[in-house]
Amino acid sequence: MRVIKFGGSSLANGQRFNTVCDIIEAKSQQAPVAIVVSAPQGVTNHLLAMTEYLHSDSIEQQLEQYQHLVNGIFDQLDNLPRPFNRHHAEQAFASQSQKLKRWLNGAAMLDYCPDHIRAQIICTGERLSVAILEALLNTDQQTIAVFEPELFLRTNESSLDAVADLVLARQLFSEHYSERHRISVMPGFIGVSPSGKTTTLGRNGSDYSAAVLSVCVNAQCCEIWTDVDGVYNADPRLIKDASLLEHLSYQEAMELSYFGAKVLHPKTIGPIAQHHIPCLIKNTLNLAAKGTLISDTSQVTKQVKAISNLDELTMINVSGPGMKGMVGMASRIFACMSNENISLVLISQSSSEYCISFCVYSRDAYRAQQSLQTEFELELLNQLLDPIDMQSNLSIVSLVGDGMHHQRGVAGKLFSSLAQARVNVIAIAQDSSERSISVVIEQRKSTDALKVCHQNFFSKRHTIDVFIVGCGVVGSALLTQIGRQQASLKKQGIDLKVYGIANSKGVVFNRDGICTSEWQTEFSQAVDLKKEFSPLSVSVVKDFVREQHLINPVLVDCTSDSALSRQYVDYLDEGFHVITPNKKANTDSWQYYRQLRDAARKTNRLFLYETNVGAGLPVIDTLQKLFQAGDKLVQFEGVLSGSLSYIFGQLDQGVKFSKATQIAKQNGFTEPDPRDDLSGMDVARKLLIMAREAGMALELEHIKVAPILPDNFDTSGSVDDFMQRLSEVDDYFVDKASSAQQQGKRLRYVGKIVNGECQVSIEAVTSDHPLYAIKDGENALSILSHYYQPIPLVLRGYGAGADVTAAGVFSDILRTQAWKQDI
Ligand code: ADP
Ligand code: ASP
Ligand code: MG
Repeated sequence: MRVIKFGGSSLANGQRFNTVCDIIEAKSQQAPVAIVVSAPQGVTNHLLAMTEYLHSDSIEQQLEQYQHLVNGIFDQLDNLPRPFNRHHAEQAFASQSQKLKRWLNGAAMLDYCPDHIRAQIICTGERLSVAILEALLNTDQQTIAVFEPELFLRTNESSLDAVADLVLARQLFSEHYSERHRISVMPGFIGVSPSGKTTTLGRNGSDYSAAVLSVCVNAQCCEIWTDVDGVYNADPRLIKDASLLEHLSYQEAMELSYFGAKVLHPKTIGPIAQHHIPCLIKNTLNLAAKGTLISDTSQVTKQVKAISNLDELTMINVSGPGMKGMVGMASRIFACMSNENISLVLISQSSSEYCISFCVYSRDAYRAQQSLQTEFELELLNQLLDPIDMQSNLSIVSLVGDGMHHQRGVAGKLFSSLAQARVNVIAIAQDSSERSISVVIEQRKSTDALKVCHQNFFSKRHTIDVFIVGCGVVGSALLTQIGRQQASLKKQGIDLKVYGIANSKGVVFNRDGICTSEWQTEFSQAVDLKKEFSPLSVSVVKDFVREQHLINPVLVDCTSDSALSRQYVDYLDEGFHVITPNKKANTDSWQYYRQLRDAARKTNRLFLYETNVGAGLPVIDTLQKLFQAGDKLVQFEGVLSGSLSYIFGQLDQGVKFSKATQIAKQNGFTEPDPRDDLSGMDVARKLLIMAREAGMALELEHIKVAPILPDNFDTSGSVDDFMQRLSEVDDYFVDKASSAQQQGKRLRYVGKIVNGECQVSIEAVTSDHPLYAIKDGENALSILSHYYQPIPLVLRGYGAGADVTAAGVFSDILRTQAWKQDI
């Protein structure tokens, strides 16, 4: 005989009842089947709510709602081709409703619903499912038998979380049911106490009923049919790329269900493991799926098989000077819990014996505390114990797998993963079977913890969760490049998604990631609709990251805004990496410069700004590594501006200064207002950044800037006015360039660090100088250092335009993928 259990999700509507009947009929052709059913989805919750909201004037209304819900299923069944004996179902439901009404009115009068009445009420949903199956499966050709759990499924006295007495249940079953029908049906969830009262087996308890029935009928297999393909290596509701497990050992399944995998009630495995009955988890909505087989055999191909999380826990700490060396403290604590019928989810004790900590379900926490306070009244009074401490809103995250036994590094990887998701570990427990390792953490962090553990133990995929601020030339080029590369990165195991784009008006988020090829449309639609659109602030981005449980958020600032650059510290503090071509932060005060680095170090996040100097050239990283390895800067000279490289290169060819500037502007080499380049301030900022990298504690005002344009030249007015007037300086530059040429030199706009002094000015350089050949938008940096002398280290390459800068920013973004943070 096979025992087949259908959960509420398999009985959620008429269509699903029909599918269930198809499965039952097909299966019963091969061997007799005993079917265990839950209540239709949602019904137990409704019944439970009725017992909790006891107002006599609302009972009618609640019953009507219930009736409405059930009628909906009956109507759906009426419309199916399969014959449905609605009359039978309605009669059964009507007699249940009468009882419900009586119980609820009685409880409302008392203003209290005793547990044994509550048990009677909440299990009527299972009886309803049985009545519906009878109405669907009883025909002229076949009648189905009904197993009544109250006749045999003996439990303890606990009304709401009963434990079955397997031996007695087996014996009573054989006394009542000797005949085997082709199809028998039993309502799940229900038991009977020694005093004859109805008990329930805890939420989700029909799985457990099926296990007990499997033992009673000596089943060849216990099948649990639900709404997923089987047991996944993590809760598939939380982890989208969780993978299906084809096989689990009993112990693994037990640990997983105990530590929160809702697909199985935690007590299900005990009985079937004891009697070596294989258990198959199948999907009612996808018959073709193979499912998960739980059996005696253990496949230890993987160290860690799955991760689970259990929420709504409270940790109770009993501590104090009186604990040390006191024999019997633990037994008194646990006796209290056992007297109160409170189950302990996890226990941990410090080896100093100063403190015993344990987790209970939050619903039991208050009772636990009260009973401990009574038990230890004297010790508390004499301050041998500290006040009983409780910490609520906690979760347990557990790694489970037979293969973890004797494997080194699993715990280490778990803790580094948690650190990566900035999750603080409150307590740890591992039993000596080493089949599971559990950590207690704050509940609000449990999805983050699951995600990062799944990523590091199973999917091996790296996520990069990007927020781009500024969609001007660099920002748009970056989005285009990301769009082009996304698929190929995915193949390399990198999930790079842009979750938010912001400009000065506000920020647009998309939970699934913004489509990078359509971002403009998405952005403007959001602006028009004012939906998903709000002004940018650290808190809105942070809230989005929290809600979506993003574990590797990266803020990319493609603006030149100084207000945003002042918020980098806040973003770092909130766990973002910060990446930017914006030079404002690094040229702000020395104090802020230090503060930024301290924040990055403290939070173990990356602050990357490779494109601050030399666009896409590998300048900053190279320098940092060199200086870390003990090198020291002796002298620096560089052409640091792509636009000025172009303009001065044109002067070599005899092109007039105004013409060269105009072409540079047209080609997009200059800032929209070329005065920003010609003022020399952009180069001064870059030079300051170089100097600071070399360890010089300078401020921007310490950089001596010799302007490019002669002092008496009027730079006021609009961009057009300025451009028109620019030809006035052409002769000045012709003179300067030709006198340089006469000495075999060329004019370059050079940033220089010599003897601790920084200066930016026009220089005439000789043909053997590294900057002599630099033109057409090229950048060049000549670094003379202790290691690189007398021949300097020269970095040289194209340094103008949005594409190279965006590419540099992109490569900084990719540097965040392998980042493992240990807070
Ligand atoms: P039923 O109504 O069939 O009893 P449940 O809702 O009680 O179904 O249990 C099935 C649900 O358990 C799935 O829909 C899934 O969301 C959840 N679940 C949690 N953890 C896991 C896991 N590790 N593997 C599969 N399902 C899981
Ligand atoms: N109907 C009960 C519940 O919702 C039992 C079950 O579904 O297993 O908890
Ligand atoms: Mg269930």
